[in-house]
Amino acid sequence: MGYDKRNPPFCFRLGEYRHSKLNRLAALSKMPAVEFLRQKILDPYLAGDLIEKPKDNLILEMSKLKLEKIKAEIEYLKLKNRYMETFGTPLSSAATRILKPQIITTPQQTTELMSPYDEKNNRIQCTDCGILFSWSDRNEWLQQKHEFELHMTNKHGRALSYLEKSVLTDLSFSGVSL
Ligand SMILES: [Zn+2]
Repeated sequence: MGYDKRNPPFCFRLGEYRHSKLNRLAALSKMPAVEFLRQKILDPYLAGDLIEKPKDNLILEMSKLKLEKIKAEIEYLKLKNRYMETFGTPLSSAATRILKPQIITTPQQTTELMSPYDEKNNRIQCTDCGILFSWSDRNEWLQQKHEFELHMTNKHGRALSYLEKSVLTDLSFSGVSL
C-alpha cells in the first residue's frame, strides 16, 4: 500500500464565513488553518474529546435540578438520622416540616427519583409497584432492607437507583413501622 493510499489527502471547500472564522481561530492559536482544523477539531472529535453541544438547555437544567433535589433529600435523611442517633428520638413533625427539602421538580417525576422510604409510617415502599416493607424490630428492619433490594432485582429486574441505594445506606433504625 502506497503512502498516498495510507495517508490520503482530504480536500473540501469552505464558504467565506467559515473560512474566515477558521482563519481567525487558527491565528488565535498561532497555527496554520489546516493544522488547527486537524489538531484542534478533527483529532479531538475522533478521540471523543469534543462533545456535541446539548440541543436542549432546558433538559440540562432539569437534570441539574433533579440532582440538587436528590442531594438535598440525602442531606435531610442524614440529618434526621444524626438527630435520632444523638437524641434517641425522631425529629418532631414540626421540625420535619421546616427541614424537609422544598426543592420543587416537575410533576412527571420518574420513579427512580422518588425515595422509597415512607417516613410518616417508618416503612419502605417500592416506588415501582407500591408494595410495602415494614418491620417490628431491628432484626426485621435489617431483613426488610435486604428484602427490598431482592424485590427490585427479582420483581422489577433492576438494581437499586442511586437514590434508593443512598436512602437504604443512610436509613438507621428508628423504631417499629406504623
Ligand atoms: Zn415493586
